[in-house]
Amino acid sequence: MRMGEHYPAGQKEAEAWCARCRRFTLHRVDHPVPPAKGGGRLGPCIDKDHPPLGLSRAQLKRKEKSEKDAQNPRLFE
Ligand SMILES: [Zn+2]
Repeated sequence: MRMGEHYPAGQKEAEAWCARCRRFTLHRVDHPVPPAKGGGRLGPCIDKDHPPLGLSRAQLKRKEKSEKDAQNPRLFE
């Protein structure tokens, strides 16, 4: 993504590289009030798999583990 990229009014989301997801994801487009000439600015990643901010390393590890377990339902048979 180019720095300072602007988005037209009404555009609510845009695809951009997310460093935390390590792939292209949907990001929110923030529109300043009153509307700026340049349009909306790229906001935070809104991908459903985006790791939430504020999670400790231990919490992240637990989250990864529960996701791994969810992908291997055979473990519970
Ligand atoms: Zn993300």
